[in-house]
Amino acid sequence: MSATEISVCQCKLCGEGKEHPEREMHQQMNVFLSRLDENQRRWYVALESKRIGKGGDSVMSQITGMDEKTIRRGREEMEGKLSVTPTEHIRHPGGGRPPIEKRPNHPYCLTEDYRVGNSG
Ligand SMILES: [Zn+2]
Repeated sequence: MSATEISVCQCKLCGEGKEHPEREMHQQMNVFLSRLDENQRRWYVALESKRIGKGGDSVMSQITGMDEKTIRRGREEMEGKLSVTPTEHIRHPGGGRPPIEKRPNHPYCLTEDYRVGNSG
């Protein structure tokens, strides 16, 4: 047995120990989450939160123990960076570093390209 941390659902119904149809689902969510990395966890919880709709962040926070802020951030990431927007104009992220451009001529190529008397 490996010591994987599986959080226990803290939602009202599970907390009261009542049997409810979602109970197993909540448990399985936490099992699933324990196998994901940090980003994947956030995005998965964000998706579930979106599916729930209003108040989803709060509910998912109770189920997974994840911070509501983190879930919200995940949702924003899903809505922004991760999804490909069909709109033409792409907004700049604002005040970031300029993208690194690859130059067509590498210094290596320039020096290596000269043939040094390779005839005969
Ligand atoms: Zn629950």
